[in-house]
Amino acid sequence: MARTIVIAGNWKLNLSVEEGVALAGALAKEAGNDREIVVFPTALSVYPAVQAAAGSKVEVGVQNAYWEVSGAYTGELSPELAKAAGAKWVLIGHSERRQYFGETNETCNQRVQATLRAGLKPMLCIGETLEERESGRLDEILRGQITGGLANLSADDLADLVIAYEPVWAIGTGVVATEEQAQDAHALSRGIVRDLLGDAFADSVRILYGGSVKPDNAAGLLGQEDIDGALVGGASLKADVFSGIINS
Ligand code: PEP
Repeated sequence: MARTIVIAGNWKLNLSVEEGVALAGALAKEAGNDREIVVFPTALSVYPAVQAAAGSKVEVGVQNAYWEVSGAYTGELSPELAKAAGAKWVLIGHSERRQYFGETNETCNQRVQATLRAGLKPMLCIGETLEERESGRLDEILRGQITGGLANLSADDLADLVIAYEPVWAIGTGVVATEEQAQDAHALSRGIVRDLLGDAFADSVRILYGGSVKPDNAAGLLGQEDIDGALVGGASLKADVFSGIINS
């Protein structure tokens, strides 16, 4: 089944509003191929980035969102507020959120459900640490993240889901997974999705690779059977470098 490639940029805690607007505007001008393009700015830059990319194929998302719609939750934002600002996506369960901010498979599931209730598209991040890989726990970790993150949801509910496989040891380290390691983990993840949600869903869900993707390794990774795009951190912060991945 043909799956449209998604190239997503996670800006993390980088770029001022002015810099984010300039980057979103530059990408909007350049994004000319048939790939879907998504950027995840800081929350401050979401609305202006949406304005800067208006009329283009560049979509904007938030890097995290809480599961309550509104109320006394200081410091949080909801998918509904993100949607009102023009966001289309919510990034959920990035390894930095899991590692530094106590995100669990259960809280990821609450965020996925809240994202879908608001009519936004969830991008659920999964991936193992080096220790988990080396101790033979890859299947167990990915299975827990996928089944936990997608609990209580049907294939119909999850029609807009994208999964991002990001081995923790490859994020921001410059150590990219080999094409074979990445393809094997993607095939494993797709198999877990198949067990959970059936053949039709597993064949159509997009699974992105993330972890030190650069213009010079993107084409090889995107050429793998089960890799349907990339979630890019460091290399998404400059228009010419990110465009090199978009056009790879
Ligand atoms: C990420 O933050 O999701 C990521 C993959 O970062 P990097 O591309 O810098 O490894």
